Amino acid sequence: MTVAPGPTLALGDRFATELPELAVRWQAEEAPQPRLLVLNDALATELGLDPAELRSVDGVRLLVGAAVPAGATPVAQVYAGHQFGGYSPRLGDGRALLLGELTDAEGRLRDLHLKGSGRTPLARGGDGLAAVGPMLREYVVSEAMHALGIPTTRSLAVVATGRGVRRETVLPGAVLARVASSHLRVGSFQYAASTGDVDLLRRLADHAIARHHPAAAGAEQPYLALYEQVLQVQAELVARWMLVGFVHGVMNTDNVTISGETIDYGPCAFLDVFDPATVYSSIDHAGRYAYGNQPVVAEWNLARLAEAMLPLFADDSEAAVAMATEALGTFRGRYNAAWTAGMRAKLGLPEGLDDTVATGLVDDLQALMRENKVDHTTFFRRLGDAARGDAEPARLLVLDLAGLDAWLERWRGVGPDAAVMDRTNPVYIPRNHLVEQALTAATADDLDPLRQLLEVLARPFDERPGLERYAEAAPEAFGSYVTFCGT
Ligand code: AMP
Ligand code: MG
Repeated sequence: MTVAPGPTLALGDRFATELPELAVRWQAEEAPQPRLLVLNDALATELGLDPAELRSVDGVRLLVGAAVPAGATPVAQVYAGHQFGGYSPRLGDGRALLLGELTDAEGRLRDLHLKGSGRTPLARGGDGLAAVGPMLREYVVSEAMHALGIPTTRSLAVVATGRGVRRETVLPGAVLARVASSHLRVGSFQYAASTGDVDLLRRLADHAIARHHPAAAGAEQPYLALYEQVLQVQAELVARWMLVGFVHGVMNTDNVTISGETIDYGPCAFLDVFDPATVYSSIDHAGRYAYGNQPVVAEWNLARLAEAMLPLFADDSEAAVAMATEALGTFRGRYNAAWTAGMRAKLGLPEGLDDTVATGLVDDLQALMRENKVDHTTFFRRLGDAARGDAEPARLLVLDLAGLDAWLERWRGVGPDAAVMDRTNPVYIPRNHLVEQALTAATADDLDPLRQLLEVLARPFDERPGLERYAEAAPEAFGSYVTFCGT
């Protein structure tokens, strides 16, 4: 490891100094032959970094963790977590490092983090490495989510390391440089609480308030206000996932952020056919993290956060539990409000439309979509055409034409706004077969399909001639899709 002579990058060490109990100083493993596969120029600029410098030899060394900027203190973060419902008291970054915090062009504090940078003291049985395919997958899907307007960690770069990674076969290794408004998780609070050190828990909560929810500091009950803020941002986040058809796949408490950003794109995938029971992850046998279960799982995860925060709510444990229970009881209302507002936009329903009418339209449409096994993304987009008077594209997608026609008539009667629908219902999402094609090509050194896909996904609402194949559902031959964890 050397101190970087290349791009000047002022990285803070606020997490490491304020919360040393949650930070293990560490350094990345040397990459034998770093080679930049993809760089996010727009994000680099947003961070106040020069893309040309990041492309230089020294810049790439920085992105792969081989060179640490002067003054930076890279750390592996310690956290706990419920994984598929079972509690692991000590997880943490097994193959990741927080390089530090930088201040972006708008003055916001952002974490710069590496994934796949080698074993840390928290690696347990893992090899600390990541393969090119899964790191590019996180890059593609997280950037697509950002373009869809959904809060998410961002991807700055993927660098191939030149090192082989042993999975079922030997795969080329890579490091992802990731940016987040922080990497604080529900699991961070669970770990802090489990130490029994209430001062540590309080420092963690103060750190979270300062970074994410500064308004909570002035509240009568700052820690309860922080918890309520997390309830709100998570309710909004999961509503956004549901509205766009995103299945996270591994909603363990260590993968739930305090900021409300989507994090850790492992076995995630987007729905093709609308079906609440959809599961893509190869290890999710019971369907715990099925598409339709996500709101309930989010609530369960936030109950775990409340448990961890109890000592901060009140000295008297009964009073603390009462406060937590009351707050958690608001989650469903928060989620329903966010989801309903989003669904109204997806259907272009006019402001002020009676709730009962709106709910009837939404419920009946969902039943129709389920029964007709329609492609979630295409169907909503084609409803936009129907709002403009051309129902044929939507009719082509369903078998029950009488049912659809009756629904369309009721819906058109309320005067849906097609322009709102076009801004809300994407044409292009990272369809599973397209992502797989791009990653397979990239793993074999052909980066063109990946670059083209990224360009399409950067403007998801903007339907463009010549890009029809990016909007189409998977060909039959693609079969049913399975994703893998920890890859
Ligand atoms: P995830 O489900 O990807 O968020 O990972 C869960 C936990 O496993 C985290 O603590 C990761 O750091 C750790 N982990 C996943 N893959 C590896 C690996 N190849 N080597 C070391 N740790 C890993
Ligand atoms: Mg994780």
